Amino acid sequence: MVVETEDGRVPDSVLRTPNRSFACGLHCVPRSDGSLYVGATNIISYEPRKYALLSDLKFLIECAMDQLHTGLDDASLQKLQVGNRPIPADGFPLFGRLDGTANVWMATGTYRDGLHQSPLLAQQMADMLGGREAHPALRDFVPVRPPLPTGTRDEIVDRQRGVAQDPLVEPAGDVPQHRRQAAPDLHAAVGAAGRDRRRAGRGSARPAAAGPDVLLQGVGVT
Ligand SMILES: Cc1cc2nc3c(=O)[nH]c(=O)nc-3n(C[C@H](O)[C@H](O)[C@H](O)COP(=O)(O)OP(=O)(O)OC[C@H]3O[C@@H](n4cnc5c(N)ncnc54)[C@H](O)[C@@H]3O)c2cc1C
Repeated sequence: MVVETEDGRVPDSVLRTPNRSFACGLHCVPRSDGSLYVGATNIISYEPRKYALLSDLKFLIECAMDQLHTGLDDASLQKLQVGNRPIPADGFPLFGRLDGTANVWMATGTYRDGLHQSPLLAQQMADMLGGREAHPALRDFVPVRPPLPTGTRDEIVDRQRGVAQDPLVEPAGDVPQHRRQAAPDLHAAVGAAGRDRRRAGRGSARPAAAGPDVLLQGVGVT
């Protein structure tokens, strides 16, 4: 969101709180016109979204007032911006020619990092369209592929068990109202995954594909 502070003062530089699980820290960016940009939130959705959830907005405003500056309660809201961050089901980009087509190329699925990667990806894509091979580091990201693993199922469940509660609790130690229901659900899901694993002995089926048909959207409000 973009706000105008009551006394017109803004910080001299960008301020940012530490990253938390599943989300970047809260940040504010002073703009040359004297306004202050405050962001960002993130929810995962199967469909692109046009509008912000009120719960996300409430969360962003409360976090900004609690963690950046209490004086923001007197700021005026100038603008709300909602954008979609494309992310494939396995979390890695989609880059290259679409299997089974002669001329359909994809460069997407970059989630929160597409802006910074764009000069490099554009250069690589231009090379590929010109008939050259992709850089070896990009070859794993062909658009239609089995999900790229970041560990065995057991390792991922164990890792997840460790971080699952973090995003539910804010630095002040409270669970935001709109996440209270998620807490027991998440505990149950993570617990169930662990139980399934113990019952089955070990690993189990992975999702079938990470291609464009399962492109998700991380929707952010700034
Ligand atoms: C709030 C927010 C903050 C971000 N901050 C950063 C950051 O700090 N650093 C960073 O590196 N990245 C950041 N990103 C991520 C970055 O913006 C994305 O990774 C990048 O834009 C993805 O590029 P894309 O071309 O795949 O998709 P997009 O940029 O979304 O482009 C898709 C385009 O397709 C168009 N389109 C959609 N449907 C159709 C249709 N049916 N017909 C024709 N056109 C269509 C859309 O209008 C859009 O122009 C941020 C994203 C958001 C939302």
